[in-house]
Amino acid sequence: SDGHVGFADLPNQLYRRSVRNGFEFTLMVVGESGLGKSTLINSLFLSDVYTTANYDDRIKQTLQIEASTMDLEENGVRLKLTLIDTPGFGDAIDNTNCWQPIIDFIQKRFDEYIQQESRIDREYHIVDTRVHCCLYFIPPTGHSLRPIDIEYMKQLYDKVNIVPIIAKADTMTEDECKGFKRRILKDLRDNKIRIFEFQEVAGEDEDYAAQHKSSKESIPFAVVGSNTKIQLNGGKEVRVRKYPWGMVEVENNDHSDFIHLRNVLIRTHMFDLIYNTNILHYENYRYRKGGSSVS
Ligand code: GDP
Ligand code: MG
Repeated sequence: SDGHVGFADLPNQLYRRSVRNGFEFTLMVVGESGLGKSTLINSLFLSDVYTTANYDDRIKQTLQIEASTMDLEENGVRLKLTLIDTPGFGDAIDNTNCWQPIIDFIQKRFDEYIQQESRIDREYHIVDTRVHCCLYFIPPTGHSLRPIDIEYMKQLYDKVNIVPIIAKADTMTEDECKGFKRRILKDLRDNKIRIFEFQEVAGEDEDYAAQHKSSKESIPFAVVGSNTKIQLNGGKEVRVRKYPWGMVEVENNDHSDFIHLRNVLIRTHMFDLIYNTNILHYENYRYRKGGSSVS
C-alpha cells in the first residue's frame, strides 16, 4: 500500500472546512483476548503501532489499557490519532463487571473534557481525548451472541459509539458468516442494544451512495487481520494470512469486510463519530453527573 490512510478524503465540504485546523480521534478496541484486536489496529492504520522485534505474527499480550498516539497528516489535514488497546476479558474465571475498567476509562476522558470546558480562558484550545469509537470484537462462533457479549455491549452502548466486529472471519465460510451476521443483528435488536448508525452522507455522488450501501449491509463487519506482509509482483505490499491452501488478503473485499470498515471509520464517518460522541454520549454523561433525577 502507498501509506495513505484516507482520513482527509472526507466526503463532504462542510467536514473539510471544520477539520482545517486539525482534529483528534480516539479509537478503542474491546473484546475477549486473542481475537486479533491488536493485530487489526496495526492493519487499519497501515502502521505498526505494535511492532514485534522478530517481525513474526505474534504480538505481546495486552495486559493493561494502553493508549498510543500518533500525529498523521494527509492533504494538509492534521489528525492526532489515539488508539486504545485493552486487555481482553475471559481469562479470569469470574467475569463479573469485567467492563468496569473500560467504563471508568471512558468516563475519566469525559471528566477531563468537562474540566477543560470549564476554563474561562477563551484562547485555550480544548484537546478532545474522549473515546469516539469502540470496536467490539465478537468471536467467530457462528452461533449467536454469547451472554457475556450481550451484557458487555449493554453496559457500553449508551456511553460510547459501538461498532461490532466479527473477529477472525477467515475461520468461517461465507455462508456461515452471513447467517451469523443475521443472528447477531437480531440479538442486538432483541436486547435493545443500539450500535452506531452509519448514516449516508448527503450530497455525494452515485459511487459514494453505492459504496455506502454496501458498507452498511456488511455490518457487523467480518474482518481478518494480519501482521504478515508480502510484496505482490508489482511491488505493492499487502497484508495476508497464509494457509496450506492459499492466502487471504486483508484488504480484499472478497475475503473480508476490512475495506468497508476502514472506509466508514476513517474515510467517511470519522466526523460523525466525533459529533455523536459530543452531542449524545458526552451530553448524557454530563447530564447524569449533574445529579438530575430522570428515569
Ligand atoms: P488480541 O488479544 O485481541 O489483541 O489478539 P492479537 O492481535 O494479539 O492476536 C492473537 C492471535 O490471533 C495472534 O496469533 C494473531 O496472529 C492471530 N490473529 C489475529 N487476527 C487474526 C485473524 O483475522 N484471523 C486469524 N486466523 N488469526 C488472527
Ligand atoms: Mg491485544
